[in-house]
Amino acid sequence: MPFEVTILGNNSAIPAHGRHPTSQVVQIHEQQFLVDCGEGTQMQLAKYKIRKNKLDHIFISHLHGDHYFGLIGLITSYHLMRREKPLHMHGPKGLLDIINLQLAASNTTLFFELIFHEVKSELVNVLFETDEFIISSFPVKHRIPTHGFLFKEKIGLRKINPDKIAELNFPFQVIAELKKGNDSEWEGKILKSNEWTLPPVAPRSYAFCADTIYHNELIKYISGCDVIYHEATFMEESAERAVLTFHSTAKQAATIGKAIGVKKLLLGHFSAKYDNLQPLLAEAKEIFSETELAIEGQTFSIES
Ligand SMILES: [Zn+2]
Ligand SMILES: [Zn+2]
Repeated sequence: MPFEVTILGNNSAIPAHGRHPTSQVVQIHEQQFLVDCGEGTQMQLAKYKIRKNKLDHIFISHLHGDHYFGLIGLITSYHLMRREKPLHMHGPKGLLDIINLQLAASNTTLFFELIFHEVKSELVNVLFETDEFIISSFPVKHRIPTHGFLFKEKIGLRKINPDKIAELNFPFQVIAELKKGNDSEWEGKILKSNEWTLPPVAPRSYAFCADTIYHNELIKYISGCDVIYHEATFMEESAERAVLTFHSTAKQAATIGKAIGVKKLLLGHFSAKYDNLQPLLAEAKEIFSETELAIEGQTFSIES
């Protein structure tokens, strides 16, 4: 089953050096989710051939413009395209008022239902859940209320032991029980789940850590995570500025990635002062080698 993230925007504050403000698409199994929607996001969706009509949920981390100024454009395009499916928008208090004000000013009544789910940034909230995965938010520490998002697979069914497949001539219901880990009975014979099946594949997880100052606390919300995206607005030489603006340095992002023991750390939200991003990568890699730049247009697979 696919589980991957495609980067649409990786810059902070202002677009610069061909880079766009924050946005990314997370594909988990059959569904795609938009995370943040900076200015130009709908153009980036088109550029990287992501069908915007597949998106039914948009998650917004906080109300700094570089994370949601693309929203009214995208919503208006859905309207003009006569979208009929409801659109779910998950974000901080106030976001719906902003969108409604813009729609009212243009006397627009949307053709589709816009369903707003307020995210309480200071809490852990379950935002969306299926039988296969769960999406939640967790608090981070920034100048205004801000939260990250955690995408996590649930533990799946056990797999049929390939060595036993030739002997496996039971009804479907019996096999289903074995895959759930339950021993079963067939024609007077007890079938042990752990003889016929192997443990399920390990569930995978991805965390988007939004904009945040270096914040040890967030480790507890995303411990055990396989891949994380952590902002690296500045290099360590601007550590003071990072503190003043409630952002992180590349070194700090790497420190978090290392503490969690992630398989991969993605750096993003780069300051416009950096044209060349390689020094940020090098700084992070000194602390944690499994680090990559979240380059726009690239898709990163989430592996456990
Ligand atoms: Zn930002
Ligand atoms: Zn911010």
